[in-house]
Amino acid sequence: MYVLGIESTCDETAAAIVEDGRKVISNVISTSVKEQALYGGVVPEIASRRHAEYISATVDKALADANMTIADVDAVAVTFAPGLIGAVLVGVNFAKGLAYAANKPLVPVHHLRGHIAANYLTHQDLKPPFLCLVASGGHSHIVLVEDWCRYKILGRTVDDAAGEAYDKVARTLGLPCPSVAAAARDGNPKAYKLPVPHVEGKYNVSFSGLKTAVINEVHNAEQKGQGVNVADMAASFQERIDQILAKKLLAAAADTNAQQVVLAGGVAANGRLRQLVNDGAQKLGARVFLPELKYCGDNGAMIAAQGYYEFQDGNLADWSLNGLPTLPIDYR
Ligand code: ZN
Repeated sequence: MYVLGIESTCDETAAAIVEDGRKVISNVISTSVKEQALYGGVVPEIASRRHAEYISATVDKALADANMTIADVDAVAVTFAPGLIGAVLVGVNFAKGLAYAANKPLVPVHHLRGHIAANYLTHQDLKPPFLCLVASGGHSHIVLVEDWCRYKILGRTVDDAAGEAYDKVARTLGLPCPSVAAAARDGNPKAYKLPVPHVEGKYNVSFSGLKTAVINEVHNAEQKGQGVNVADMAASFQERIDQILAKKLLAAAADTNAQQVVLAGGVAANGRLRQLVNDGAQKLGARVFLPELKYCGDNGAMIAAQGYYEFQDGNLADWSLNGLPTLPIDYR
């Protein structure tokens, strides 16, 4: 079964064809990230306008790269939540029009379910149940994936998501986002003593206090007429976030006796986090699955992959499908 996946929740306009949820036939991404960088973050209005400009050509190219026309596709899957609502609606409306005109089933896909499904593209033998840390943009969740379309949230961020904290720290340090990781490469992760924020709930995380600690250090240093060492601060911040995420995920893995531990989302591209989770899971005797770097960011292939399983599960939308800015991963 060939599924066309369409994604437009943030600054990437993306489309892909995936066979049976596992095999990427084509994968096309158009992005407004360079333009957005001029403003130090994603401007929703610019994102929506670029999606509207790019989406038709992006989907055409995904079909052309696969040597297909829309007639060869078995279903159209689209991210309908959560995301910047103006951006989400561009993808949803395009997918509705296309599916209606071509008389194809329309499959609604939750963005975070898509990030998790990116792992199915890399690991052909990965099947639920597994424990997953999905961390991307505005979301950090520790989720038990009980089945292809069944999720249990064990922990979540109580304030800023890891991605948001990264963006704010990048701005405070005068770095173009997303380059905390690049700056951290030359830094000493032990140079600055940053706090471990206290948080209620065994698997919940909090990054707001950590972010504020960085901002305070930078301001204090500026007032003394000194600067902070940007590389050292970036490295110290990243190390602390990675330690927190890895610790919570591994605690949940130990408590649930997880045999498979999975990373998903933009933060899964982080080398140090991958290493910490790998080392910890090995001690627990659990297998670790990491998505390929090219599928860590937003893409259409991950939406087509999850779309295949949603279709199998009978999750189809009619022409009244609407986009939503927020929606829990276990909504259905
Ligand atoms: Zn994402």
